[in-house]
Amino acid sequence: MSHVFPRHTKSSLPTVAKGDGVYLYDHSGKAYFDGSGGAAVSCLGHGDRDVTDAIKAQLDQVAFAHTSFFTSDPAEQLADKLIAHAPEGIDRVYLVSGGSEAMEAALKLARQYFVETGQPQRRHVIARRQSYHGNTLGALATGGNEWRRAPFSPLLVETTHISPCFEYRGKRDDESTSDYGLRVANELEAEILRLGEDAVIAFVAEPVVGATAGAVPAVEGYFKRIREICDTYGVLLILDEVMCGMGRTGTLFASEQEGINPDIVAVAKGLGAGYQPIGAMLCSAKIYAAIEQGSGFFQHGHTYVGHPTASAAGLAVLTKLTDGGLVDKCAVMGAKLQSGLMQAFGQHPNIGDIRGRGLFHGIEFVEDRETKRPFAPERALHKALKKETFEAGLICYPMGGTIDGKQGDHILLAPPFIMEDRHIDEIISKLQTAIARVL
Ligand code: PMP
Repeated sequence: MSHVFPRHTKSSLPTVAKGDGVYLYDHSGKAYFDGSGGAAVSCLGHGDRDVTDAIKAQLDQVAFAHTSFFTSDPAEQLADKLIAHAPEGIDRVYLVSGGSEAMEAALKLARQYFVETGQPQRRHVIARRQSYHGNTLGALATGGNEWRRAPFSPLLVETTHISPCFEYRGKRDDESTSDYGLRVANELEAEILRLGEDAVIAFVAEPVVGATAGAVPAVEGYFKRIREICDTYGVLLILDEVMCGMGRTGTLFASEQEGINPDIVAVAKGLGAGYQPIGAMLCSAKIYAAIEQGSGFFQHGHTYVGHPTASAAGLAVLTKLTDGGLVDKCAVMGAKLQSGLMQAFGQHPNIGDIRGRGLFHGIEFVEDRETKRPFAPERALHKALKKETFEAGLICYPMGGTIDGKQGDHILLAPPFIMEDRHIDEIISKLQTAIARVL
């Protein structure tokens, strides 16, 4: 009997034995194409020697030293490199162990910023209904995913949620795409005014919504209007790029494609590429200065902040993404995968929408393409898709319908950036097999 506390207590999973390039292998020797990089983590695939060598070298040097006493070379170099590639105005990096920690740090820093600058009455956070920001209590409160929040609702700080920007599901037939973007962005202004002009700390959003929606980018102009509203009311803009950042959408930061700069941005997943648990919260010079000139100390911290070995992994990964050209490769392969998916599934009677950016794609399933009616939740189509794709030797990330009970089941594809042209055919043919078995 296994003593591991699994994700689902009633399921039994194969044991992973090995990873090599774009494949994972179980103990029977069966190969699985890692079509979702786990959960958009394994951007370099498996067994990357440059990264494992960097980790080993760091372990031989010094595995860990607490940040109360020391900084470390890999942490300093990783922070320098992140800032060299970060959106304009972003100036400091706080290294943590994952995405929830990065978001937790972002929320606390935003609140402390207003305490330090004499606006302690600001206490509200606004986020979007279709979002996931992590599973710790602060991040969970911010996320809009109702079923995840429900059991813990008495423990969650109050956060209000506005509409997401989701053209396929949200745009009315009688409005243009840009009018739709402005309409949903303006919900932020209405919510700020409802809560009180000087009551809000931050607006939190994923530039391309990941797990809850299946790679949904906002329409053009949406984030520009959001930035404008935040500036008008002195509200900080926190972008959660835990899933969509680190090159996944074809640019290192997803926000680059929106033409805006956040005040705080969270990254994780692809930063460690699965080789070490690492995340980062990056903030603007303005926010850092407020802390520096105020109490001089960010009232937060975990034992493993700035962990040297995790930082060495992050530095090796980031070097491959940027200097090694893998972000550019992601953009090129992403365009090919997108057109392959459109060709193979664009006319499928039960596929309503194929969307995404870079190597980050969502496929949404519907019972009726005309009306966009989802399959009944009791059918649990996403679970059947997970089972059949896995059976076919393809890992993809499934999710049931969520938004306001209206969205269809979807699968998320987030393959490693090292994939080659032949892998596009492999993904498509395995998907075809699995979909034909389910529908
Ligand atoms: N934000 C987003 C957008 C995510 O997708 C995730 C993880 N799925 C998180 C935060 C939380 O990250 P972690 O699981 O590393 O804590």
